[in-house]
Amino acid sequence: MVEKYVPKYPLVWQKDNFFIKIFCSIPNIATGILLTADDKKFIIDPGDGILRDLNQEIDSKEILKITDMFISHGHHDHVGGVWSLLTYLSVMKKTSPLNIYYPKGCIEIESIYKAFMQVYSRELSYKIALHQIDNENSFEKDKVTVQPFEVNHREAAEGDEEPVAVPSLGFKFNFNGKSICYGGDTAYCEKLVQMAKDSDLAIIEAGADSEEESDLHMTMSEAIKIGKTAKEYFLVHVPE
Ligand SMILES: [Zn+2]
Ligand SMILES: [Zn+2]
Repeated sequence: MVEKYVPKYPLVWQKDNFFIKIFCSIPNIATGILLTADDKKFIIDPGDGILRDLNQEIDSKEILKITDMFISHGHHDHVGGVWSLLTYLSVMKKTSPLNIYYPKGCIEIESIYKAFMQVYSRELSYKIALHQIDNENSFEKDKVTVQPFEVNHREAAEGDEEPVAVPSLGFKFNFNGKSICYGGDTAYCEKLVQMAKDSDLAIIEAGADSEEESDLHMTMSEAIKIGKTAKEYFLVHVPE
């Protein structure tokens, strides 16, 4: 029997100038993550509350300097804060462009962007660039190497229908010889097993409601099994 564990947010990890703060990651409510590498900051999965959490964490001038945002998938508990964040950046007169990376087929991000531009494009102070990811090629963001990888996340369908696949990514960030692997939401999958192994930090979801194997999320014991292959790990997205 695996004991029920509930993470106490925020979760923080730091090695030299490589720093990650998980403000929260609670299924059906919100996720929010800030990654810092030297003076560079990235936002990962800006769920509801991200604007408040960022403002508590850093100066608004620092928030305006953020140029990259990574989205694992379009579920509301991972993108619920996008609209208010985009609006805030314009109200506060951001000038540098903002890149948004997201999995191909994620209609939520494209719809939010489209609606947002319809409302604000005339007064927008900065440029938004959408980058849909349809492969697992790594790319450089200043001194950080970003390695996207496909995970296996589904959502329950109505009645007897099979669960439906959701375009979903995990990301592995490498900086100064250290790596952080974020799996996003996923059922147990080989790709995550491979990417998490030997990471300095693995952030692994344990979102299943019970210890029964599920297509939708990982059980606590599956998540721990993967986490233990990394040097350190956090379990997140645990139902509260
Ligand atoms: Zn989620
Ligand atoms: Zn999800």
